Amino acid sequence: MLNYSELKQLSALGGNGNMFVSLYLNVISSAPLGFWREYNLSLPVKNEIVVDSTPYIKPLAALLSSYPRYIVLVADKESARLFLIHLGRIEIYTEHVTPDIPGKHKKGGWFALEQGRYERHIDFHISQHMKDVIKSLEELLIRESADRIILGGSEETLAKVKNMLPHTILDKVIATFHPEKMSGGKDILNETLCLIEGFERNKEKEIVEDLITRAMKGNMAVIGLEDVLTNIRNGKVMNLIFLKDLSTTGFKCKNCGLLTSHAIKACPYCSGTFEDVNYLIDLAAQKAVEQGATIDVISDSTELARAGGIGAILRF
Ligand SMILES: [Zn+2]
Repeated sequence: MLNYSELKQLSALGGNGNMFVSLYLNVISSAPLGFWREYNLSLPVKNEIVVDSTPYIKPLAALLSSYPRYIVLVADKESARLFLIHLGRIEIYTEHVTPDIPGKHKKGGWFALEQGRYERHIDFHISQHMKDVIKSLEELLIRESADRIILGGSEETLAKVKNMLPHTILDKVIATFHPEKMSGGKDILNETLCLIEGFERNKEKEIVEDLITRAMKGNMAVIGLEDVLTNIRNGKVMNLIFLKDLSTTGFKCKNCGLLTSHAIKACPYCSGTFEDVNYLIDLAAQKAVEQGATIDVISDSTELARAGGIGAILRF
């Protein structure tokens, strides 16, 4: 599955005179390395084929950035289902169906806190059951390094679920919705994708605002291509942010790998000579990923476009 460590692995494959064919939708291959990897992407990406000395990862980075992993918890009185949404796909992770809650109280399901002599007994069942659900949820959050949760259920059920969730999990809830009782994965995907899109657009706005404000104040952030490239060279980039459609050619030092958009004769760091590169932003993103930086690809922002289409939050 596509994730940041995979992206990092791809970035590291460049160099040594190997040629890579990156074909989007889905294939990256290199004949000399016997390397072939397919990515089944369910989302529309621009069809393009790129032959270069490194894997062309920008579209993958864009997808990772725009479509992080979302966990959907759908609950009703009798059951709770956990889904994972990633890259436009949904898969069910686990389903918890209420065990036999004793006697007539079965009707109430595991949220019903009824009076009577069974109360303690039922409380046990309910809390045990919810504990299992929360445990699964926590496992899934860790396994998928996900930090966004969507809750689905009736108003009443959602209130009860929220009551039982620990704050650390509650903080990750980004939206709620009310699915039909028998909604399958496909319906749930359809209902949640627009919530996700809205959330992501807002998030992108915040990222760009934060970047530009910090860059203006000189607070560990830079905007504009050359400043970003200098900081990548110095290993200072923690979070690289650029516009999805940003594309430019440039130059790379044959000796130390310095990237620049300026045509200069000799490398200011090592006096090496430069070669032309077709995908400057992609190379910059690869270097940043190699250094452990995260990437945010912004789908649309006039503010960021005005700032040169690219910026970075710095480590130090
Ligand atoms: Zn150099």
